[in-house]
Amino acid sequence: MLGGFLTLAPPPNGPAQGPGRTARVMPFALVGAATVAVFISVNWPTLDPAEVIGILGGGLGLALAWALLPWDRLPHAAQSLLPMGSVALIVGMQVLVAPRDIDPAALMLLPVLWSALYSTAREAAAVTVLAVSCVLGMQVTEEVFGSSIGLTGWTEATAMVGGLVLLTWFTVRARTHARTDSLTGIANRRAWDDVLGLEIERVRRHPGPLAVALIDLDNFKRFNDAFGHPQGDRHLAESAAAWARCLRGNDHLARVGGEEFAVLLVGADRATARAVLQRLACATPNEQTCSIGVAQWDGREDAAALMARADDALYAAKAAGRDRIVIAHPATNDAGPPMGGPVIGTEARAA
Ligand code: GH3
Ligand code: MG
Ligand code: MG
Repeated sequence: MLGGFLTLAPPPNGPAQGPGRTARVMPFALVGAATVAVFISVNWPTLDPAEVIGILGGGLGLALAWALLPWDRLPHAAQSLLPMGSVALIVGMQVLVAPRDIDPAALMLLPVLWSALYSTAREAAAVTVLAVSCVLGMQVTEEVFGSSIGLTGWTEATAMVGGLVLLTWFTVRARTHARTDSLTGIANRRAWDDVLGLEIERVRRHPGPLAVALIDLDNFKRFNDAFGHPQGDRHLAESAAAWARCLRGNDHLARVGGEEFAVLLVGADRATARAVLQRLACATPNEQTCSIGVAQWDGREDAAALMARADDALYAAKAAGRDRIVIAHPATNDAGPPMGGPVIGTEARAA
């Protein structure tokens, strides 16, 4: 099965996970905290201390869960518990508010936007369905049972529901487009940089093998000249599709340049990486070939250094005659020879 980056919607880092998570959550935390502060001060006369403690405790609980839970070890979808918890908190505020100086239900925009930006499309849809159900549920409860927990009226409830759905739809679509290469349908350079940083971060905490390969089509300019640019475009798309079929669900394939692609093999040691890439090279369509440079993560280097070693190995593969895989020399960060040193393994594609 092809998962991850091989689908149109590459998995994002998740709202609570990976590099930059503080920057991602901070705008939402500030707007949420400001609105809760306004809510409590405006409704102060009608809120009893237990209700105030409940609201503040709920907010604090969400913040602690975001900061302390081991998100890397939990399934990605578990991160949707944060926006879902926020939806529950907002429902609690809406139920408590009396007299209704403001509709806290407007706050639903925050968890829905958050998950539309940072969760997978499916997780964002789940959060949106929950938020929409809560808005409708409160409105119907008000109409049917005469309670006062609905929004100010059906007009507001309808606008809120429509707004939440449109917000999710357009945000997920824009985000997907921003991370997808339009010609091949696989991840683009921006998405690649994100996932490489995230995987290196993850493997630093939970050590395991990780390999990066750079693939460059051989003599592609000649192919374009011989068959025309449109056929060249088709060859790029067919190559990406053929290579994607050789990868496992947790591997990642991206187009990082004109006719240059990158593969991240998660959990692949040298032997596995070599076998997978051998298969991938053989799958190149239209009787064309490619050259591949591969580097195994050394346990310390950053993404740029790892990519540089893979690039040096690719250069070596081209220099050695193309149509082959070259494995980069292990990085030596302490001292001694420079990184991207001599080639230690060269294999002809047909070997
Ligand atoms: P080498 O084996 O050394 O990699 O040779 P090459 O011809 O593949 O490499 P070179 O860098 O000389 O040429 C790359 C070509 O790729 C030139 C450019 O027109 C073509 N190219 C880049 N992006 C696209 C694209 O999106 N569509 C098509 N059809 N061609 C592209
Ligand atoms: Mg090329
Ligand atoms: Mg090239």
